[in-house]
Amino acid sequence: MTTANDLSLLSAKAAAFISGEKALFIDGEWRPAETGETLPVIDPSSGREVGRIAQAGAADVDAAVRAARRGLEDSAWARMRPHRREEIMLRLAELIGAEAQALAEIETVNSGKLISNTRLFDADLSVHTLRYMAGWATKLHGETMDLSVPYLPDVRFNGFTRRFPIGVVAAITPWNVPLCQAVWKLAPVLATGCTLVLKPSEFTSLTALRLAELCDEAGVPPGVVNVVTGVGEVTGKALVEHPGVDKISFTGSTRVGLEIAAQAASTFKSYNLELGGKSPLIIAEDADLEKAIPGAAWAIYGNSGQNCCAGSRALIHARHFDRVVAGVADIAASVRLGPGLDPASMMGPLVRDSHRARVAQHVERARAAGAQVIGGESVDGAGSYFTPAVITGLDHTHPTVQQEIFGPVLCAFAFRDDDEALRIANDTRFGLGASIWTEGLQRANRYFERLKAGTVWINTHNILDLALPFGGTKESGVGFELGREGVFSHTVVRAGVMPVAD
Ligand code: NAD
Repeated sequence: MTTANDLSLLSAKAAAFISGEKALFIDGEWRPAETGETLPVIDPSSGREVGRIAQAGAADVDAAVRAARRGLEDSAWARMRPHRREEIMLRLAELIGAEAQALAEIETVNSGKLISNTRLFDADLSVHTLRYMAGWATKLHGETMDLSVPYLPDVRFNGFTRRFPIGVVAAITPWNVPLCQAVWKLAPVLATGCTLVLKPSEFTSLTALRLAELCDEAGVPPGVVNVVTGVGEVTGKALVEHPGVDKISFTGSTRVGLEIAAQAASTFKSYNLELGGKSPLIIAEDADLEKAIPGAAWAIYGNSGQNCCAGSRALIHARHFDRVVAGVADIAASVRLGPGLDPASMMGPLVRDSHRARVAQHVERARAAGAQVIGGESVDGAGSYFTPAVITGLDHTHPTVQQEIFGPVLCAFAFRDDDEALRIANDTRFGLGASIWTEGLQRANRYFERLKAGTVWINTHNILDLALPFGGTKESGVGFELGREGVFSHTVVRAGVMPVAD
C-alpha cells in the first residue's frame, strides 16, 4: 500500500500555500508571533513536516482581540448597512468556490482526510454556509408590541425590540472538518455585524489562514476577522480568558468545553459549546437492512470515524444482529486505506500518531475485557493508518462504549424490544446525534420523541443542513450553531419603549 500523499499531484496554488512559514492575521496584516515561536504542519499520511505555523502567545492574542474591538466599534464595519455585509459574504463565497479544489488539497495534506471529503464537506459546504448566512444579514428583525403599562393608565406606549451584534466573538475549532468549522463560526459573525478572533486547531490551521486572505480579498475590513494559531493551552486559553471577548464559540472535546464554560461564567461571557458524542444508531426489527447495513458502516467509518456525530454504538434488533454485524464487518474489510490525495482511497489516516495510539488503546481495552474484535489494527509503517473495527460482546458500561473514541470503531449490541433499545441508547452522558432505522411511521415518531439528542435522524445518519439548528444536550454541548438559533446567538436583544403621542 502506498501510504504517503504524492505531493506532486497538488495544484501549484495548494503546493505554494502549504510550504513555508505562516504568520498570524491581525488587524488586516500578517505578522509573526511576538516570541517568534513556530509549530510544525504535519502530513498525517507520511508523518512528514510540510510547513510551519506561528505559535501565538498572550501578547498576540491581546493584539487580535483589541483589533476585533476596534473593528466592532470604530470601523467602517460598525456603520456598514446589512445589504453591504451580505454582498461581502457572497463575494467571499464566490472566492472560496473559485479555489475549492486548492482548498480541498491543502486540507487533505494537513488533515489526512480524503480529497472527496475535503472538497464536499470543507470547501463546497463553506460556500453554501456563506450563501445561507448572507441571507440572514438583511433579515434580523425585531418585534413591535402594544404595551399595557397598567400603572400609567393615561398614557399609551409602543414597545419594540432590535437585535444588535453580540460583539467580539472568540471562535475555537477542532481538526476534523477544519475549513467548514471555521466558516460555520465566521459566517454568523459576518451576518450579524460582529467581529472575530479565530483560533483553529494547531493540527489543521492552514485553511483558516487562507480563509483570512480570502476575507481580505472579499472586502472584509481590517480587524473584523483575525486568525491566531497555536496550541490550545496557550493561545486558546489566552483567548478564552481575555476580558475583551464577548462570546466564545467553541467546538471541541467535552473536557475543554467544561474548562471554557467555567472560565466564561466567571467573566460573564456568553458561549456556545459544540462538544463530543457517542451517538447510537438503532436498527429496529422492521428496518430495511439493505439500507441500514451500509448506513451503519458509513455512519461510523466516514471521515475515519473522526466525526462528532459518528454512529459509534449500533443497537440492533436481536433477530438481525448476526446479519448486520457480518454485513458491517464485510464493508470494513473492503475499505481501502490510503492517502487522501489518491482518489482510490476509501479511508485516510487518522489525524496524528498520538490520536491513533488513543484509538488503539480503546480497542485493546475491549480485547482485554473479552470482547470479540474484528479489525482495529494500527498499520505498520509511516502514516497514522488504522483499520476499521467492529466490537461485540462488551458490557455497555465499559469505557470503550461510554467514552468518545473519535476513530473508526463500532461497538454493537443486540436488543429485544423498543423499550430496551431506548434505554441503552439514552444510557450515555452524551446527547449529540441518534438515528433510528425503521419502516414504521409510528415507531419513528416514538423514537424521535424519546431519544435524548440534539439531532435525531430517521433512516439516515449524519445529515446536517444549514437551515437546521445543530447542537447537543447533556455533555455534548450548550446552545446551537447554524439555523435561526445559531444566528440569533450572535445577537443581543435591546428593548425600546416610547410613549404614543395623542
Ligand atoms: P480539543 O478539545 O482537544 O481541541 C479543540 C480546540 O480547542 C483546538 O483548537 C484546541 O487547540 C483548543 N483548546 C485545547 N485546549 C484548550 C484550552 N485549555 N483553552 C482553549 N482552547 C483549547 O478537541 P479536538 O481533539 O481538536 O477535536 C475533537 C473533539 O471535537 C471531539 O470531542 C469531537 O466530538 C469534538 N467535535 C464536536 C463537534 C460538534 O459540533 N459537537 C464537531 C466536531 C468535533
